[in-house]
Amino acid sequence: MPAFHEFERLFPKEPLLGPSALETHPRILAVLAHPDDESFGMGGTLAFYAWSGAQVFLVCATNGDLGEVAPEFLHGYASVVERRKAELCKAAESLGLAGVYMLGYRDSGMPGSPDNQHPQALAAAPLDEVAARVTQYIRLLRPHVVLTFDPIGGYRHPDHIVAHHATVKAFHAAADSQVYPSDLAPYQPQKLYFHLISRTFLRLGVILMRLFGKDPKRFGRNGDINLAALAKEDFPVHAQISYRLVEKQRKAAALAHASQMSGPGVAGGVFERILRFFGSKDQFMRAYPAPEPGLHESDLLADVRI
Ligand SMILES: [Zn+2]
Repeated sequence: MPAFHEFERLFPKEPLLGPSALETHPRILAVLAHPDDESFGMGGTLAFYAWSGAQVFLVCATNGDLGEVAPEFLHGYASVVERRKAELCKAAESLGLAGVYMLGYRDSGMPGSPDNQHPQALAAAPLDEVAARVTQYIRLLRPHVVLTFDPIGGYRHPDHIVAHHATVKAFHAAADSQVYPSDLAPYQPQKLYFHLISRTFLRLGVILMRLFGKDPKRFGRNGDINLAALAKEDFPVHAQISYRLVEKQRKAAALAHASQMSGPGVAGGVFERILRFFGSKDQFMRAYPAPEPGLHESDLLADVRI
């Protein structure tokens, strides 16, 4: 196994894991796209499993270059990326993550923006290149369960969609030494889940926006999220994870991303209250093993052999 420094670990600063620790804890790896996806999306679930004793790792594909950051948040930071990485470290600490690794791609912006074409953009990278890199992290960290975005990247963000496809490829490639070969031993994780934005939550969002005279087709800071269309996309919910016990940690992680607080994943205000109304639960669709009809899990580690 190569030394950790050959991989780009952002958090923690000091090596945390010994080989014995790796053998005894359940391990979960989330592969996401931007610094803040881990807190605004499935943060409750990540915090819950870290709290319950699992080692929870994050691979973050981009540096979040295009997150809008007001000038007051840049004091003491050389760039937007530096600020967002610092926020990610703080969030990782709140969530109790065992490690955060960066792929270092450039944020691609929303669909159709010129940033999609930037040579360093995640959306412009060959899918096999991204999948090969995610595969190496699966072989390095040997997670029992892998989590990523749903097939439409939650709200059709091109970086989320790339992270989804690369993770699905990597999940199936990691056990085959012939695919994306490396010095690391092949490894097959046992379960793969896609995080879902609650459709009830989205539908309620559409109703509320109409009620307040806003266009639900133009949600988010830049008005580029079509909430009405998203609410109509239906994915089966195979697992619901309650994170009521770690609500404080999830909230602290979301607040760590202070520079991003007025984006689509707002941690304060009305949407936060709606989230709590829904009972502090995250929803997931199971991709592997193939779900049996009527599957309804309340634990992502159910039937996992450690
Ligand atoms: Zn994102």
